[in-house]
Amino acid sequence: MKKYWPPAAMLAIFETVAVSLWFAKDNIFYLFNFSYIGLSIALGIFLYIRRYEHARRVVQLLVGLYMLVYLGLICRENMQIEGFWYYLFTGVFEAATIHYAVAKIFGPLLFGRGWCGYACWTAMVLDLLPYKVPERPRRNIGWIRYITFAGSLIFVAALFLARAANIERIMFRAFIAGNLAYYAAGIALAYAFRDNRAFCKYICPVTVFLKPMSYFSLLRIKCDKDKCVSCGKCRRVCPMDVDVTDNSRKRLNGTECILCMECVRNCPKNAL
Ligand code: SF4
Ligand code: SF4
Ligand code: SF4
Repeated sequence: MKKYWPPAAMLAIFETVAVSLWFAKDNIFYLFNFSYIGLSIALGIFLYIRRYEHARRVVQLLVGLYMLVYLGLICRENMQIEGFWYYLFTGVFEAATIHYAVAKIFGPLLFGRGWCGYACWTAMVLDLLPYKVPERPRRNIGWIRYITFAGSLIFVAALFLARAANIERIMFRAFIAGNLAYYAAGIALAYAFRDNRAFCKYICPVTVFLKPMSYFSLLRIKCDKDKCVSCGKCRRVCPMDVDVTDNSRKRLNGTECILCMECVRNCPKNAL
């Protein structure tokens, strides 16, 4: 039974968050929301331990569709970065601000970019494309993410400065337009660069939070140097070009790791 402690621990962490927010905010939605996400992630880890090949995809679909369809389209919450700025400016610690705090700002100190590997609804679609491993060398255009990041902030700040009417409705429309733009850009880039995750590497504004926080992540893949035979397989199957054989925090593209476990599954020496 020992091998099942990781899903149990993950469920316990999410239930703690769920119950704490339920009482703190006096809103039972948080109990439902974080219990559902915790259960989905725990199920994924359980399936992974049972060696089910598509375990990560199951979690990606369960969490990604829930956030996109239920929270975004049905509850009309803008869960994108614009929604985060919006709730931050209104001073409301709700919806997107809590989501960002847990999944994208403080959570990565614990579980790195697990969000990107298991929950993001943009990557949920991009991972279906044919270039699961990049077929071309990485480009030096990651600076684009700072432009999209600034653009999202300026957009929401402008709405407040202009005292726009019906700002809630604008934010909902921005959520739909933003997602369509992300999907269009993500798919186009994947084909242009022959890399499903090109959008994540160069464009996504959320990585401005995710990358520095995940640098300090508690959870990370480590290499047992005594077992490693330097065959390079782990690097060849990595969708994010991480040099996982280097155990230092400064490993090449270390803050890009999405914990997809492809390197672990493919290492012939069980060194990871
Ligand atoms: S980098 Fe952005 S688009 Fe890619 S998985 Fe992470 S949050 Fe989603
Ligand atoms: S796949 Fe395993 S043995 Fe090969 S280089 Fe990576 S860690 Fe070492
Ligand atoms: S293959 Fe390994 S190093 Fe690359 S993103 Fe997945 S877990 Fe991280």
